Amino acid sequence: MPGGHAQTLRPFMWRAERLYPDTEIVSRTHEGRTRHTYAEYADRTARLANALDAHGIERGDRVATFCWNNTRHFETYFGVPNTGAQLHTINPLLPDEHIQYIVDDADDEIIFVDPSLAEKIAGAAEGAEEFEGVDFVAMGSEGIDALDAPAYEEFIADHSTEYDWPDLDGDQPAGLCYTSGTTGKPKGVEYTQSMLWSHTMASQTPQGIPMEDSDVVMPVVPMFHVNAWGMPFTATAAGAKHVYPGPSPDPADLAALIEEEGVTVSAGVPTVWLGLREYIEEGNEVDLSTLDTVIIGGAAAPKALVEWYDERDVEVLHAWGMTELSPIGTVSHLKDDLRDADYETQVNKRSKQGLVAPGLEFEVIDEDGEEIPWDGEAFGELRIRGPWVTKEYFKRPEANEEEFVDGWLKTGDVVTVDEDGYMQLVDRTKDVIKSGGEWISSVELENAIMAYDGVSEAAVVGVPHERWQERPVAFVVVAEGVDREELVDRIESGLREEYPKWWLPDAVEFIDEVPKTATGKFSKKDLREQYGDQSLVEGAVPEDDAPDAE
Ligand code: AMP
Repeated sequence: MPGGHAQTLRPFMWRAERLYPDTEIVSRTHEGRTRHTYAEYADRTARLANALDAHGIERGDRVATFCWNNTRHFETYFGVPNTGAQLHTINPLLPDEHIQYIVDDADDEIIFVDPSLAEKIAGAAEGAEEFEGVDFVAMGSEGIDALDAPAYEEFIADHSTEYDWPDLDGDQPAGLCYTSGTTGKPKGVEYTQSMLWSHTMASQTPQGIPMEDSDVVMPVVPMFHVNAWGMPFTATAAGAKHVYPGPSPDPADLAALIEEEGVTVSAGVPTVWLGLREYIEEGNEVDLSTLDTVIIGGAAAPKALVEWYDERDVEVLHAWGMTELSPIGTVSHLKDDLRDADYETQVNKRSKQGLVAPGLEFEVIDEDGEEIPWDGEAFGELRIRGPWVTKEYFKRPEANEEEFVDGWLKTGDVVTVDEDGYMQLVDRTKDVIKSGGEWISSVELENAIMAYDGVSEAAVVGVPHERWQERPVAFVVVAEGVDREELVDRIESGLREEYPKWWLPDAVEFIDEVPKTATGKFSKKDLREQYGDQSLVEGAVPEDDAPDAE
């Protein structure tokens, strides 16, 4: 429905500019902190749109970014889709061959490159025919010779601060993001204008990840990962102040931004918040008094982490989502009738992945194809649908057949749902450990182990086993100065009290770091490849000879 009646992003930007012209957008950059107002942002975004037109970008063309979180990247968030072009955020942490595949598949016309990532993209582009015809712009005030890229500031400089934003249809593709999955080539997920609009509006409800004009919002989650969970759009809809943490922020950088900019809402994967906790536990003084809410998602938030932030008066909202969901699916708000419950009950609920966001529907289907009861025990695969859930993959009809059934997206997540409606992720269908015909949740064991003092990270994987099919092995990263033997004793005796004997890991191995995927999740695939050798567990068999565990 064109003519200004459709569900599009444009009104969010228009409103912020008109109602909050002086509210700030702050970035941590190599050259220090930059500050712009929404009024300046609107001018610069219009210049960008004019510059794209002058470059020959047309409606439906794909414009890519290869950038960290900063204000210029945020300018592309509205500047590109509001013209009718499609913003493709490339994950720079992917291997070169994935980047080549993605650029080719998306048919990108132009790529905006962060100077600190110039070498990475030049390496991927060198001699690669996938990059033929692609132009580059350097996201800064200086160009990059190796890429023949003009500086962004130069690219937009001579253009008008007025732009005649078109009336777009809700179905107009606005965004594109690739999901890596565990195997095979990355799959593209397109976000239409109306998907992003409805995701923003649902985020803004009290049961989403709501923001107000008094908020100072810092998305630590990368802007190349599902639009930083939509936060730049939601913060703009609210007229909030934005804070972008720039390239590879460490806990000290985040602490400085929180304190000096007065951050009230932030979001990121558990590793980010574990890192900040460790930094503070090491004795660094950080004033968290402005911080109201931390949204943790992308991987399970350990209960111990939720409790640690609770003790410091920072509310953790545990959220679950996927690239295919733009990305928010569930958020762990406390239901009103649980407000009088004891703390332990409340924190157990809040540590689950949460309540389905208003606007979505889901069902959970067990191995017999039946819908599970909501009793917190029965589990099955989660299927979900709704206005901001994709209905298909970009140019991948064969993936559509595998991943969708009767209009539902098959999430690949195995979950329980309790009587209050809280969804809890038991495992990925591919990571669940099948031992003696029963299932062991790797996620649950990991969270249990991560609750022990002295453990920084823990990942549990199934190792093929001649008798039991698979057995769990725990890989643990310890904090400095921890007595490893004593820790293993503590973990083993603790787990023995909590879990049946057959759930206990057959081995606890110490490693320096849990390998991560390009989106910061534990990479079970790499762990298996690196350590899945047979010496760890008595009776284990080489992977190739193992019975098919699927
Ligand atoms: P991606 O599309 O890369 O965002 O990955 C989506 C997957 O990440 C989901 O299907 C889950 O397996 C996992 N995930 C996302 N959020 C959570 C969470 N809060 N707890 C556990 N796993 C999560």
